Amino acid sequence: MIAYAEDLADLTAEQLDAACKEARRTSEFMPVSAAIRAAHEKMRTTGTVFLGPPLLAYTEEEEAKYCERCRPDGWVVTNGHAMRCDHRKKQ
Ligand SMILES: [Zn+2]
Repeated sequence: MIAYAEDLADLTAEQLDAACKEARRTSEFMPVSAAIRAAHEKMRTTGTVFLGPPLLAYTEEEEAKYCERCRPDGWVVTNGHAMRCDHRKKQ
């Protein structure tokens, strides 16, 4: 795997290992780094490997911090203007 280290330096050891297994499974030949990266991208985009919570899921902290109008970033759009939500003043 050392020969691939430079090409795939941005992948973690875990991601690299998983991508190598997938590349070997789907490739007739000893996989090159491009095949490993392709396998990694495929797994990443198809969600085969768990890399974190879904983007649309809110953490409990965010749930408490923002109201339903300004989730998930604290901003609301009023008359075409983006403004910081004022829900904190009301509380
Ligand atoms: Zn709010």
